[in-house]
Amino acid sequence: MIELPEAITMAKDLNNSVKGRRITKVIAAQNHHGFAWYFGDPAGYEDLLLERVMDSANSFGGYVELNIGDSKLTFQDGANVRLLPKGAKPPEKHQLYLKLDDDTAIVTTIQMYAAIMVFPVSLDYDNSYYLTARASISPLDKRFDEAIFAKLVSEAPPKLSVKGLLATEQRIPGLGNGCLQDILWNAEINPKSKVRSLSDAELETLFKSVKSTLKDMTDNGGRNTEKNLYGEPGGYQSILSAKTKDYPCIRCGGAITRKAYMGGNVYYCGKCQPVKDS
Ligand SMILES: [Zn+2]
Repeated sequence: MIELPEAITMAKDLNNSVKGRRITKVIAAQNHHGFAWYFGDPAGYEDLLLERVMDSANSFGGYVELNIGDSKLTFQDGANVRLLPKGAKPPEKHQLYLKLDDDTAIVTTIQMYAAIMVFPVSLDYDNSYYLTARASISPLDKRFDEAIFAKLVSEAPPKLSVKGLLATEQRIPGLGNGCLQDILWNAEINPKSKVRSLSDAELETLFKSVKSTLKDMTDNGGRNTEKNLYGEPGGYQSILSAKTKDYPCIRCGGAITRKAYMGGNVYYCGKCQPVKDS
């Protein structure tokens, strides 16, 4: 699932690859998918997109948004967006296919579930997750500072865990269960530890790790557990993921634990990320 680093990379790659291209063919919702959500009736997408020019793409809080004519195309985690080279056949099943005037195409498929929204700028997409993400200050932004982080911590319910703080309820849009693992490994903090049990020094380390780990992931074109616009894995080598769980911790040699926790597996080293409860 794409998160903040991959969404930023995707927007950058779209700007480099398809900005200025005219859309010559539109196929929306070609394949029925029970967990594909659209804005309005996708049968109307052709009217909104055909013969329009792809303008700039941007990203916020894990969303990627393309400006196309008088409309926006928005997607987030779960939507696999790929650039098809000239003449390449689209996959058998897809949710949105946009052929471009240089014979390349942008095709969107779905991993498990995803929202693919095309809507006229005049209507705006009135969805609370989208609006929260759009209004959020990115953790990579200078404005996301110690004071903002301290406010999130002070507003945390008493029993909230560190994972709950960072990766649920859109407290930090775009930071999800994927990026969380290395942020906490770098900070030597356990995802299950209660926020209230952390010392001031640990909270400072955690704040710095949120920023530096996400920056590292973004600077390297996203995590290697996700694929970019060209179908290639990102250049950031994830330390903790399903791919590395059977190897010892690269810092201390301890065993890596995988546990289902708060929607999604968490990975941690029991030795250098001990659980702290309060
Ligand atoms: Zn360790």
